[in-house]
Amino acid sequence: MEIAVRWAEDPEPAERRPAVGGWSMGELRLTVNHHVLSRNEYAGASSEGVKWYLLPVFEWIADKWVHLLHEERFAWRENSSAPAATATLLALRRLIDADYGLLTGESYSSARAWWSRHSLRSADSSALYPDVFFRRLRDEIEISWTSRQPEYAPDGFRFELMPGVAMLPVAQVAGPLWEMLNWVGVNAGERKLADEDRQSIARLEERLSELKRLSAFSLEAAYLPARLFSELSTLRKRAHLPDESIRLKYAPALAILDEAVLMFGGVSPDIGRADMETLLGLLSSKAGGSESPAFQELVDDTVGAPTGVPYEEGYEAAEQLLEEYALPGDSDFIDIRALLAKWNVEIVERMLRTSTIRGIAIAGSGYAPTILVNNTSDYNANEAGKRFTLAHELFHLLYDRGFARRVTHVSGSWAPPSVEKRANAFAAMLLMPRSLVRRSLGAGMVDANTVASAAGTLQVGISALVEHLYNISMIDETTRDSLRQAVTKTV
Ligand SMILES: [Zn+2]
Repeated sequence: MEIAVRWAEDPEPAERRPAVGGWSMGELRLTVNHHVLSRNEYAGASSEGVKWYLLPVFEWIADKWVHLLHEERFAWRENSSAPAATATLLALRRLIDADYGLLTGESYSSARAWWSRHSLRSADSSALYPDVFFRRLRDEIEISWTSRQPEYAPDGFRFELMPGVAMLPVAQVAGPLWEMLNWVGVNAGERKLADEDRQSIARLEERLSELKRLSAFSLEAAYLPARLFSELSTLRKRAHLPDESIRLKYAPALAILDEAVLMFGGVSPDIGRADMETLLGLLSSKAGGSESPAFQELVDDTVGAPTGVPYEEGYEAAEQLLEEYALPGDSDFIDIRALLAKWNVEIVERMLRTSTIRGIAIAGSGYAPTILVNNTSDYNANEAGKRFTLAHELFHLLYDRGFARRVTHVSGSWAPPSVEKRANAFAAMLLMPRSLVRRSLGAGMVDANTVASAAGTLQVGISALVEHLYNISMIDETTRDSLRQAVTKTV
């Protein structure tokens, strides 16, 4: 990410400028992965930067700094894998209907507050800024944008922008933003300023020194709901787990979040203390372990957060792994438990109190690779479901490692949907490779009986097989719908 700012001449006479920050006319250019997000066209002329009063942007970044770079959770239940720019817009539209919010326990005002912590446009609603959102996603920053034009743009003004998303290391975002904020005070001195304006700059500088003093502990607090974080800190101390968050040297931001904090990123805010203790106990008991060389060789930590189509990324990873192990060969089903045993991945089955957690994956430098299967979760009601969870968690173990090359991932309804969908696609393809599916279905018609018997052979759930057949285009929508009905009848 690159951010360039400079002061500019204001064509407006002083009396028509805004009362606050009217001195701060400048030009801002924002570039993310070679996309110039601020590129616009006005009255036939094209420009790479937006010219506007910049003080509100500086103040907004400084005010929201901690959440901008450390808050991952939305203020509502998000089921789509859409990036923040799209998800927030849809949530606000949905929640403006108050009855809807009552039903789900979400509120428009908290969604609006989330928007104000992450959307550049919330800095100044009258401004000509592109619709850009910043959000933490584990140890990366997600920058996402839409092509929506500013509400109060003059006639003939347009951003030349296609919707998009980019995942960047924290340092590459926090660094340029911090540099820009520190540029303001030094360079505003060149301008003729009224006393009031000097005061607003002094306030900004005071805020920056406040931010500079923030400890890693107070930065990581923004990653979790307050109750969860406070209990976690108590339990972490009691379990003698050190806080391993790593703060950048030159900016108040965490390049790497402590594993215990990351682990609770995917947990329901209502989780009870007993379950928290179980999770942390599992983490501390696996610390100090190591991975087998064969397993380590399979790890790919360049995969990063999902940015493309989660399904495709998951399928590709599964097909590569199958090929490497010459699977399925002539076996009838994929023996996931045998594979995990071969790689020394320990399987722990537990009955957590919450059913919102499906499984947990722990691995990486300093950890013995482990999968916890939560038998309270509906997903794990039978062996077919457990096998699916094991394959799902295997994806996290191998490909969802952060910059610290570790993973402490909790799967379930509170984990980021894009991350979960990709792991599900992987699990489906790993347990139901195309060749094996074709062989087990035989050459005849695909109907409820052949699907049920194939699911038995493959040792997967019938509905899982039905959805997979549709997703890999082996059946059409009509067949899927009638098979779905048949499955519901037999259950
Ligand atoms: Zn998961």
